[in-house]
Amino acid sequence: MIISMKIHSSRADVDAVCDRIREFGYKIHAIEGEERVVIGAVGVGDVTACLESLEAMPQVEKAVRISAPYKFVSKEFKKEKTIISLKTKLGSTDIGGDEFVVMAGPCSVESEKQIMESAEAVAAAGGRVLRGGAFKPRTSPYDFQGLEGEGLKLLAKAREATGLAIVTEVMADKDVGLVAEYADILQIGARNMQNFALLKSLGSCGRPIMLKRGLSSTIKELLMSAEYIVAHGNPNIMLCERGIRTFETETRNTCDIVAVPVLNELTHLPVIVDPSHATGKRKLVPALARAAVAIGADGLIVEAHPCPEKAWSDGAQSLTFEQWNTMMRDLKPYMELWKANRPAPALA
Ligand code: PEP
Ligand code: MN
Repeated sequence: MIISMKIHSSRADVDAVCDRIREFGYKIHAIEGEERVVIGAVGVGDVTACLESLEAMPQVEKAVRISAPYKFVSKEFKKEKTIISLKTKLGSTDIGGDEFVVMAGPCSVESEKQIMESAEAVAAAGGRVLRGGAFKPRTSPYDFQGLEGEGLKLLAKAREATGLAIVTEVMADKDVGLVAEYADILQIGARNMQNFALLKSLGSCGRPIMLKRGLSSTIKELLMSAEYIVAHGNPNIMLCERGIRTFETETRNTCDIVAVPVLNELTHLPVIVDPSHATGKRKLVPALARAAVAIGADGLIVEAHPCPEKAWSDGAQSLTFEQWNTMMRDLKPYMELWKANRPAPALA
C-alpha cells in the first residue's frame, strides 16, 4: 500500500497514520518526501479494511493498493522516471533524464596505461561513464580475477584525468564499502542478481546501483531484486538487460530487447542495455546499440579496449577504439530522435 499524506502534514499526523497502518499488521517500509509525505507499507493483512480506515483519516490524501509484488519500483508507486544524477568535475550527468547516456570501457582494468587510454577514448567520443572491472566474476576459477583494490585506484585516476564517472562491479558484501569509496555506480553482475545478502548491503552504500539481469532470470525476478535494494534504503537503481541464456548458440547470450519497453511499462527505474555481453561478438554490438536507442532504453554499457586481441577478459566482444568512434558517430541521429521523442511513447 502507498499512502499519500495531505500537503504539509505535521510529524504528528504522519505518526498517527503510521500507527494505524501498524495496527492492521503492516510494516512501514519507507517515508518519502517533505512537502508531501508518501508512506510505503508492506505485509499481509486485511487490505480493504486498512485502506478504508486510512482514507477516512483527515490527514490522508489518498491510499492505494499496489498490486505488483514489487511495490517501490513499480510504476503504480511512481509514474515519473527515476533520475540518477552523477556528479563529476565536468558537471553532472543524469541517467533516466533527457540525455541518452553511454558508458564504455574495458571488461577488466588491466594496467594504468590501458585504463587511461580507454578513458580518453571513451570521453573523446561522448561517453559519460567509464566502465572497468576491478573485481571480476569468471566462468573458470583459474581465469584472471581482477586487480581488486589496485584496479579501483586506477579507475579513480582515470576519473580525475577525464571527468568521467566510474561504474565498476562489486561481488561481495564485504567489499561494498571499499568499492563505494571509488565508484560513482556500483555494478551488480548477472551472476549476483539474486545474491540477497549482497543486495541488502547496498541499501546504505550511498551510491547508485546498476543491477544486471541474471542469466536465467525473468523480468519479474529482476524487479524483485531491485525492490530488495530499495526496501533496504537505496532507491537509486538502474536495470541492465545484458542478454539471457537460451538454446541459441550463434550469440553468447540472447538479448531480450523487448524487455526494455516491458520494463518501461512496469517500472520507473532507468533501463540500460549491454550489447557486448548480450552478443559476445564485437561486430554485432553497433547494431544492437542502435536497437537499444530506438526501443527506448536510457543508456548503453559497452566494452571497448585499446587492443581487444590482448584483452585479459572478453576480448572477442570488445570494440577497438576505431569501432567505438564509428559506433558513437553512427548513433548520433538515433540519439537525436530519442531526445525528440522523450519520454518514450507508452505502449498502445
Ligand atoms: C561485465 O560487465 O564485465 C560482466 C561480467 O557482466 P555480466 O555480469 O553481465 O556477465
Ligand atoms: Mn565483460
